[in-house]
Amino acid sequence: MPNLTLEQLRWVNAVLANDEASTDAELVLYFIENGLAPAAAHRAIIHRTDAMRGSEVTFHDLESRCLYCTTPVDAGVLVCARCQ
Ligand SMILES: [Zn+2]
Repeated sequence: MPNLTLEQLRWVNAVLANDEASTDAELVLYFIENGLAPAAAHRAIIHRTDAMRGSEVTFHDLESRCLYCTTPVDAGVLVCARCQ
């Protein structure tokens, strides 16, 4: 599974903030069809209301990343081996 890129993150934020017509289910499907991991797509939609209020979704909202360097880590792990 490819890691989420910064471009994808920005795209997700733009869609969440600007698409007021689609339902949550439609947006999840749209995210997945455009390359987002299903887990990330479902996490993204949780933040839809926040995003529409101008609060940006972060890598941490969509997948497990090291708190300090944003290296992908296993679910539930906060800090990667290098930063410990
Ligand atoms: Zn790290």
